[in-house]
Amino acid sequence: MAQSGSGVYLHSQRQQRRLRQVIWVCFITVACGSLLSGPRSAVWLSAVAALMLPAFFWLKNSAYDKANSWLLWALTIAISGLLLINSGIHEPLIICYPMILMFAALFAGPRLYLSLVTFMLVFCCSLAAVDWWQQNLTAIGPVRWQTIVTLAMLFSVCGFAVRMVAQDYRTLLKELSDENLRVQQSHQTILHLAQTDRLTGLAQRDFARQCFEQWHQQQVELAVVLLDLDQFKPVNDSLGHSVGDQVLAEIASRLAQQLNDGEIACRFGGDEFVLVLRTVDETALFARLDSLLSSLQQPILVEEYSIQLSASVGVAFSSPQQHDFNQLCRMADQAMYKAKDAGRNTYRLYRPEWQQHQTDTLKLITELRQAVQQQQLELHYQPKYELSTGRLNGVEALLRWQHPELGWVGPQHFIPLAEETGLIDSLGLWVLRQACQQAAQWYLAGQPLVVAVNLSARQFRSGQLPQQVAMTLADTGLPAHLLELELTESMLMDEQYQVQQQLAELMQTGVKLAIDDFGTGYSNLHYLSRFQAATLKIDQSFILQLNSSIRDQALVSGMIQLAHSLGLTVVAEGVERSEVATLLSQMHCDSAQGYLWSKPVPADQLWLLLTQKQASNLN
Ligand code: C2E
Ligand code: CA
Ligand code: CA
Repeated sequence: MAQSGSGVYLHSQRQQRRLRQVIWVCFITVACGSLLSGPRSAVWLSAVAALMLPAFFWLKNSAYDKANSWLLWALTIAISGLLLINSGIHEPLIICYPMILMFAALFAGPRLYLSLVTFMLVFCCSLAAVDWWQQNLTAIGPVRWQTIVTLAMLFSVCGFAVRMVAQDYRTLLKELSDENLRVQQSHQTILHLAQTDRLTGLAQRDFARQCFEQWHQQQVELAVVLLDLDQFKPVNDSLGHSVGDQVLAEIASRLAQQLNDGEIACRFGGDEFVLVLRTVDETALFARLDSLLSSLQQPILVEEYSIQLSASVGVAFSSPQQHDFNQLCRMADQAMYKAKDAGRNTYRLYRPEWQQHQTDTLKLITELRQAVQQQQLELHYQPKYELSTGRLNGVEALLRWQHPELGWVGPQHFIPLAEETGLIDSLGLWVLRQACQQAAQWYLAGQPLVVAVNLSARQFRSGQLPQQVAMTLADTGLPAHLLELELTESMLMDEQYQVQQQLAELMQTGVKLAIDDFGTGYSNLHYLSRFQAATLKIDQSFILQLNSSIRDQALVSGMIQLAHSLGLTVVAEGVERSEVATLLSQMHCDSAQGYLWSKPVPADQLWLLLTQKQASNLN
């Protein structure tokens, strides 16, 4: 008669709590009733109270539907007994039947409900029949049958109505709970999507951070491992983004395989991944990183391609003081760049002493921003000489920074910072304007000198360089052929920011292009001829020891011949010894610059050099 113990009809915890209360109230009422009523009823009610005890047993075992059925039957039997003992269907207690039925309609299954209705009707009919049999037929009359019918109708209508309401109520509850489930499921899905990178299936950065913070609170020692793929860009560029995506997904799955319980890997962005690993000691971690790097090196088969990649890895350890995830990622990032510098496909640990260096760098950046306004920057000029005649035929403008505390700071220290921070745009313009103004002054003073200005790759990003150069020439009145722009080979080969188109526009303004530091980059002469550069500057690393290195002599001689065959003028940089100057002259190098003649000097000193030289030439 009872529904299964899974609590189909008493599904919510609140209903189960109510049932417990109802059973206790009924039990106490029956027990009190047995104390207050007459001897026959008292015996009966005591028996019923005993009969109710198993309901407590079912309650204890969480068999709520069984307890419910038991209670309803016990009550029905109690009331029926009392009717039988007392005045039959005339007994006012009969009103309890509809109440039991209402309770059953609300909280019991249809079978139990029907059983109870049937029992009550049959019992009432039996009572009436017994009554009829015991008494005079005329005394009872038809009224007694009307009462039975009324009672039957009352039970049925009342039970039916309550049952309908209960059914609606249950359907509503079910719908609500289904809806609740759906909302919970979609919440889970949203949460999952927000926590997972769609391409790789790895966690998102934010989720990794949450995990990190949770584990750190549990005082687990953690290593934040930042991994950047080496040379991934060419894969994307040459094989397309779809292949690139598949490669990233494969890398992600290899990373995931390397994780132990309680560790996480996330995609940090692009081809960067972060792993949060539990560390026992450094040696164990190194062994894991070795296996991680070798697993990444296994060829990846995508479509018809077999792609082999490697990664550079930086590691930072958490500590009670160092527990900010983003900060640790930045530290691991720095270590990763050290791994790249060390030749890639390796790992490096973050060293705390780098922090000081970083602080110094930040300070220098701030000071550099102020340096322009505070006029701490100055251009120095290094003369270039024609080797065949010894004539000063040009200068290279080189930037100097007179730092209030550090003294002269070399451009190799601050130009990379200016490039990184974007400050080079304004700085480069300032250099261009200063150099053109100076060269225009010399020109007006009857000393036309070609001034060479160094450019940084970043100055091409705005796409405004040709216009800026043209405007500067117009403003300063310097003829275009007296300006030479020094570029490195990598800038010529840059496919981005329309560098090549800008170079063509620059050529049209009449300025000259020189290729700086030749021999240190791609040494691709095809590019040189394509851009019609006027000058090739051989890097000083080939020149400094030229007199003692047969290899450098062969290389430099080859470069000069090739450059001449392409119609380029050759300038050798870094000439410190006269033997080197003689050798270069024998190799038919056109011009040279170096400490042999002069270091880069301020404009007024250059003017002296220029005029003295002329004077000595005249003598
Ligand atoms: P760079 O363009 O190769 O400049 C030549 C460097 O060689 C200069 O260093 C110069 O002082 C040095 N040098 C010249 N002759 C000799 C020599 O005989 N022996 C030795 N050992 N060195 C010699 P500097 O002035 O320190 O400049 C370093 C680099 O900074 C430059 O290399 C250039 O790339 C960059 N730079 C300088 N000024 C500017 C600028 O205004 N804009 C940009 N973008 N870069 C600049
Ligand atoms: Ca240069
Ligand atoms: Ca150079």
